[in-house]
Amino acid sequence: MFGVAYYPEHWPRRRWKSDALLMKRAGFKVVRLAEFAWEKIEPDDGVFDFSWLDDVVELLGAEGIDVVLGTPTAAPPAWLVEKHPNILPVRRDGTRMSFGGRHHNCHSNDIFRESVEIIVRSMAVHYRDNPHVKGWQVDNELGNSHEELCYCDSCRYHFHAWLQRKYGTIDALNAAWGTVFWSQTYTHFTQIPMPLATPNSHNPALLLDWHRFTSDLIVDFQRIQVAIIRDECREHFVTHNFMGFAGKVDYHLLCGDLDFVSHDQYPLGFEGESGAVRPAAESAMPLDFIRGLKSTRFWIMEQQSGAAGWETIGPTPRPGQIRLWTAQSIAHGADAVLFFRWRTSPSGTEQYWHGILPHSGDPGARYEEVAKTVRELDPVLESLKGGDIRKSRVAILFSYDQLWAFDIQPHHPDLRYLDHIGRYYSEFHRRNIAVDFVGLSDELAAYDLVFAPMVFLVNDELVAKLRAYVENGGVLLATMRSGVKDWNNGVLSEMLPGPFGRVFGIQIPDYDCLRGVTQGVRYEGIEETVSLWADIIETAGAAPVAVYAKDYYADRPAITEHAWEAGTAYYVGTELGDAVRRRLVARVLESAGIENGYDTPDGVEAVVRSSDRGEVLFLLNHTDQAQIVPFPDAWRPALLPDDAAPGESEEDLVLPAFEIALFTRGG
Ligand SMILES: [Zn+2]
Repeated sequence: MFGVAYYPEHWPRRRWKSDALLMKRAGFKVVRLAEFAWEKIEPDDGVFDFSWLDDVVELLGAEGIDVVLGTPTAAPPAWLVEKHPNILPVRRDGTRMSFGGRHHNCHSNDIFRESVEIIVRSMAVHYRDNPHVKGWQVDNELGNSHEELCYCDSCRYHFHAWLQRKYGTIDALNAAWGTVFWSQTYTHFTQIPMPLATPNSHNPALLLDWHRFTSDLIVDFQRIQVAIIRDECREHFVTHNFMGFAGKVDYHLLCGDLDFVSHDQYPLGFEGESGAVRPAAESAMPLDFIRGLKSTRFWIMEQQSGAAGWETIGPTPRPGQIRLWTAQSIAHGADAVLFFRWRTSPSGTEQYWHGILPHSGDPGARYEEVAKTVRELDPVLESLKGGDIRKSRVAILFSYDQLWAFDIQPHHPDLRYLDHIGRYYSEFHRRNIAVDFVGLSDELAAYDLVFAPMVFLVNDELVAKLRAYVENGGVLLATMRSGVKDWNNGVLSEMLPGPFGRVFGIQIPDYDCLRGVTQGVRYEGIEETVSLWADIIETAGAAPVAVYAKDYYADRPAITEHAWEAGTAYYVGTELGDAVRRRLVARVLESAGIENGYDTPDGVEAVVRSSDRGEVLFLLNHTDQAQIVPFPDAWRPALLPDDAAPGESEEDLVLPAFEIALFTRGG
């Protein structure tokens, strides 16, 4: 179904009815309300006023529109902060942040948590029997809005308790962290600092545990609210709006307490820094990641429906792009799409975070595009009901622990875990090969190819899992800096790639950070520049696939292939250029017996989504030019562009700029 985020509290009551009618005319079936309205619901300590919200829920319900309520805990009101200034978060430099903006709260503070419990329970009790309220969104984008996490005394106390639970004794912590270095050995947990400013860097083991602690704190904060809602509202669902690859909270853990995952999808980014026409892979990758969290359908709680930005503003979506992005979200697994937001706000930080309606409130081109999108895609969503979404044949192993470890020590200033993954993801995406993102606890056996990027930290379970995958016939593609560290962020005292040596059939006695160093690889007769890092490999059973081109390690292996037990393990020791990566991925795919997906020109995405009722093929032109796509003969046309010009031959389909075409099969 389709819907929108609505803020009736921003507008006079006399406007609400016409908003509801316009929403109904657009085909909306669900509206998200109230996730920043704490002060309107509880204007003073213990004083509640639900009357305005009741009226809105009733008014929408009368038009056949259901409601998802947001718990308003991302916007603590001024009276609460005035009464308890200690709930404000503290920055790394020790300064306490001010009221203003949003998320101006510490997540561990007991008084804040008590206030949260009161407002959430009050709302849950009030709305548990309301026939129009179907579910809840806890808070808003947990982990967002904090450039830094909180460093207050309460967080320090809870950090110590978390460490004590994890390590049991201070001696165990000292051993795990290697605190003997620079005389940092602790005799009590209370001596352990939060990572405040120091003359030099902190111990990387402390920093990684701080990331884990602050993530767990947010998971725990969400859990309090989920428990209250489940207690009071047995029939309602509970979800939360995630933010793709935002890295503050381990989404593999945050999703565990929810009925399903929701996601906020802004294809042009926070303030559209990179222009109005973006590679399709950029917006596809977070969707595949979000689907992978619970390995199933999800909701888009916020789908970009206008120019986005706060102080500076991104470009306005081009005509057709909102429809295109909506189709893309559905293609990758969304079952509901709520646009953000209904009407552009006249006040506050998000005055320029544009909605479907402009400031004037007069429905214009964006409203008509959204209404057309809903009209066309509603039957498509209907046809996708039922059954699981089919798994892909390719999996990408994603881990927050690796992400955080590289944030702490990127090695090369330009090395980013996500950028590295994105380069390979784009290569699969370009070939229209579906990809699932999997976490450390997910099963790998069903996949024909697993890409395990930079498996920097290892533990016994992870090593055993990847080895078993190859032993049982899987094709594993791993990359540089694998098998380097233990799970506490200490370097293993063994030959690289540590416990992966046998499965890859290699040793890595030396390496080179490519800072101001020019290096290349030679592969199948071409030579191309590489960047960031070079693992200098010796084979020990593997066959070299590419070699370095320059310097003292010229002709030493850069990429290797190892037939091991029933499977094959590839190791890439450097950040490849596009041409060699493209050829390598082709080779690895062939080894896994995976063929390219539907053949499309660059910028046209082809995605197949399946259900019990059959399959839908989405052809999505993400470019601002018309593109010629071969007509998919084995499929029945379900939606073709209005102004599809005939191609050069009858076998061609011309997709105008930002256009979509849908086909069905089976069912
Ligand atoms: Zn705090």
